[in-house]
Amino acid sequence: MGAPSQRGESGKNALLRSLPSIEQLLRRPALESRLAAIPRARAVAALRLAVERVRGRLLRGEARPFEDADVDEALRSLLTPRLRAVLNATGVVLHTNLGRAPLAPEAVARVAAVARGYSNLEYDLEEGERGTRYAPVAGLLTELTGAEDALVVNNGAGAALLVLAALAAGKECVLSRGELVEIGGGFRVPEVMRQSGARLVEVGTTNRTRRSDYEGALTPETGLLVKVHRSNFEMVGFTEEVAVAELAALGRARGVPVFQDLGSGLLVPLKGDGLTAEPSVRHAVTAGVDVVAFSGDKLLGGPQAGIIVGRHALLSRIKAHPLTRALRVDKMTVAALEATLELYRDGRPEAVPTWRLLAQPSEVLRARAERLRGLLAAQGVTVRVAEVSGQVGGGAMPLARLPSFACILTVQEPEGFLESLRGAEVPVIGRIADGEVLLDVRCLAEDELGRVAEAVGGTAGQERGP
Ligand SMILES: *Cc1c(COP(=O)(O)O)cnc(C)c1O
Repeated sequence: MGAPSQRGESGKNALLRSLPSIEQLLRRPALESRLAAIPRARAVAALRLAVERVRGRLLRGEARPFEDADVDEALRSLLTPRLRAVLNATGVVLHTNLGRAPLAPEAVARVAAVARGYSNLEYDLEEGERGTRYAPVAGLLTELTGAEDALVVNNGAGAALLVLAALAAGKECVLSRGELVEIGGGFRVPEVMRQSGARLVEVGTTNRTRRSDYEGALTPETGLLVKVHRSNFEMVGFTEEVAVAELAALGRARGVPVFQDLGSGLLVPLKGDGLTAEPSVRHAVTAGVDVVAFSGDKLLGGPQAGIIVGRHALLSRIKAHPLTRALRVDKMTVAALEATLELYRDGRPEAVPTWRLLAQPSEVLRARAERLRGLLAAQGVTVRVAEVSGQVGGGAMPLARLPSFACILTVQEPEGFLESLRGAEVPVIGRIADGEVLLDVRCLAEDELGRVAEAVGGTAGQERGP
C-alpha cells in the first residue's frame, strides 16, 4: 500500500523537473517558426504563461508533460483582446454585462469617422472659435423631447448625481418612500443623494404617497421635488403615487423645481409583443417636469451616456457646476449619440438595433430558431425549438415577458456546456433553464447563426468525447 501514490508523487516530481526553461523553448525549432512573427516580449510572456499553466496542472495532479500545443494555447489567450465581441443568446436585449445597446451601423460609422482624426468637437466652424461639445446633440434632443435645453454626461447615474448636486446641494430633496430604489451596481438613490450634498426628505410610505405628503414636506429649505422611475421593479396591490403632472403642478405653484430620474429614455412609443408601457421623455417634459435625466444606452439604443433635458435656467446652473466637467463625454459618445438621434428625427426608429430587437414578431423569431436547429442538426447536434420568455433588461420594463424562441439542448453538465461555449473563438453566451441549455435567438443576427452552430457543435463534440 502507498506505493502507487509514491510512484505518482515521484512521477509528478519528475514531470515538474522536466518542465523546460524559457531559454530552451525559445531555441526549439518548432516553436521558433511559430514565434517569429510575434514581438519578443509577447513571445516570452506566452512561453511563461504556457509553462505556468502546465505546472499548475501538474500540481493539481494531472500527469501530462509540456507540449508545444500548450504554447499555441497561451499565444491564443495573449493575442486575443480582453474586450471583444460575443454572441448574445440570452434573449436579454439590454444586457448590462454584455455592453447594453448595440449601436446602429450609422452610429458606428460616425464614431470611426471622428475617432481616427481630428474633429470640431469643441470648435465652432462658422465662427472659428471655441464651441461646446454638446452642440451637435442639444438641438436634436430638444427637438425630440420638447425640452428647452439639453446636456449630455457620462452615464445616467452621473446625470442624476450632477442634477442633485447642482440644484439641491445643501438643500432638501423631497422624495417618495416608494422610490428609494436601488438600480443595480450599487446605485442607490439615498446614497447618491448623500453624495450630492442634498438632504433627503422621505415622504409617504413604501406603497402609498399622496400630493399632501409632498406638500407637507415643503419648507424654505426645499431645493427640489424628485421623482425616480421604478425602472427595475413594479409595485402592485394597495398602491398610490402622485402623477408627474400633479407633482409638476405642485412644484410650479410653490416655486420648487421638479426633477425626474427616468432611467430608460424612451423617445417615441415602442410597440412589440409582450412589451409593457414605459413613460417617454416627452411625456415628462409635457407634464411640466423641469429637469429630466435618462440613459443613452437603454431603450434609446445609443452609446453609454447620461442625458439631461429641461428648462434653460436650470440647465445653465447644471452646466456651470464643476461636476459637469468631471463627467464630460468623449467625442466618440457625441458622434454615436448624434447619429442615433438622427435616426429618430428622421422617423426611422426601427433602424436603431435595440428598437428592432424588441419589436421582432414571434413568427420571425420562430423561423430563426428553426434555422438554427437546422444548422445544429448538420453538426450532429439534436435540439428542440420551444417558445420561451425573454426580458428587456437594462432596468426597463421589469414585468415585460417577451415571447421568444430558443433552441434547447439537454446535456449532461449544463454549467460546463455554457462555460465551453464561452470559450469559443467568438464566445456564445447562453443560459440555463430547468437544467437545460437555452439559446434564445432574439438577439442573434441571421448571419451569426452559423457561428453559434459551430460553437455548439464543437462543445457537443467535446462532451461526447473524442
Ligand atoms: C439605469 C438607471 C440609472 C443609471 O443609469 P446608467 O446609465 O446605467 O448609469 C439611474 N436611474 C434610473 C431610474 C435607472 O433606471
